[in-house]
Amino acid sequence: MKYLRLVLGLTAILGTGACGSQEGSAQGQAADTLEVVEAAPDPIEGMTDGGAMLMPEARRRVLVRQDSLWAEALRIHYNAIVLDGHVDTPSLMLDDGYQLGERHRGPSKHLDLPRMFEGGLDGAFFSIYVAHYFGEGAGATARARAMMKTLKNQVAALSDSVGMATTAEEVRRLAKAGKKAVLMGLEGGHALAGSPEVLAELRAEGIRYVTLTHVNTNSWADASQSAPRWNGLNDLGRRLVREMNRLGVLVDLSHVSDSTFYDALAVSRAPVILSHSSARDLTDNVRNVDDAMLRALAENGGVIMINFFDPLVNSHLTADVMAEVYRRNGGRTRNLRTIWDTIYAVKRAHGLPGAALTDVVDHLDHAVKVAGIDHVGLGSDFDGVFDLPAGLHDVTRLPWITYELLKRGYTEADLYKLLGGNTLRVLEEAERVAAEMNPSPTGGA
Ligand SMILES: [Zn+2]
Repeated sequence: MKYLRLVLGLTAILGTGACGSQEGSAQGQAADTLEVVEAAPDPIEGMTDGGAMLMPEARRRVLVRQDSLWAEALRIHYNAIVLDGHVDTPSLMLDDGYQLGERHRGPSKHLDLPRMFEGGLDGAFFSIYVAHYFGEGAGATARARAMMKTLKNQVAALSDSVGMATTAEEVRRLAKAGKKAVLMGLEGGHALAGSPEVLAELRAEGIRYVTLTHVNTNSWADASQSAPRWNGLNDLGRRLVREMNRLGVLVDLSHVSDSTFYDALAVSRAPVILSHSSARDLTDNVRNVDDAMLRALAENGGVIMINFFDPLVNSHLTADVMAEVYRRNGGRTRNLRTIWDTIYAVKRAHGLPGAALTDVVDHLDHAVKVAGIDHVGLGSDFDGVFDLPAGLHDVTRLPWITYELLKRGYTEADLYKLLGGNTLRVLEEAERVAAEMNPSPTGGA
């Protein structure tokens, strides 16, 4: 019965109209009819929410007719607590007045609340992204705070369907109540202005992870897309990582150089994350991590959340192709946009196709084979990238990932881990380490 009440409450925000679907037969029919199914009892404590199945009924029928495995995929997907490690929607909210509660269409608009409900995404780390050109000082910190304020204000105005979260328990509570969870991660360690005090303030304001660098090397950590300055972390960097552990802030190693990655693993007492990176052995890109790094991550107990961005998962971007990309850039250019532009030019010159949803699943599969089922999750980079794989153009397509994994032999228990359970676990482990490092009852909050 609770699910019936839930869907009545959601009718207003879900609005009408199927998303830009690629399975045209379902589009246009019963666009505002949503299937609501009472989910099975919670089979794995803490990894499921018994959520309602909010996919347009006509589309659901078409899928199940195509393959009866879809019924199982949809049951598991909407029952799971599904979490995304990195979405860039707050940048749109601050710069363009993007409304989280409204349904959007068109490229580079991948996520909003109505489509989170439809795609069965229960929560995400909303990236508080600060571009490198804000520098490393008060201006960058102010930019982070302005973005956090905009996000919190919109969430507060939509409290019937979404809430802020800083702990695994809060995520579970919101999911059980049929609401979406908004966590915050700071992208770009330069916004800390090199200050442990600023880190502690931002933690108190809700930041739960820090991506140590963006494309730029900062005063304490080397980035993967800038010239090295410290050969990894310097003393201040090591101190900040320890302070993140003490505060229960996850250490995010997406974007950092390989040396910074290994330095952070050596220092961190808590499991680390890669909030939005993929596998370098499948797609040769410095933003991805190789198999040795995946094994080191597993040893640390951390989680890699696989990025969906085309150049990071495209199976045609082999080492040879990437060598040509770097050659064309004279081996010098580290500007992110120039690198992506060159990748596209080389792709066009060789007639290489774009990535597909199955490429993303290949990366998930590869990371599981190398790091293990407990160390992999989802980190879409929705609203932060301009090119997503065919079949995965926005958040409503997440059930297709679950279906593809099920088809490849993943069990229900495996899927609960990959879709969100592993992310909840690292949050809890970081909370436990923080509690250990703060023996006083008021510490670590
Ligand atoms: Zn990023």
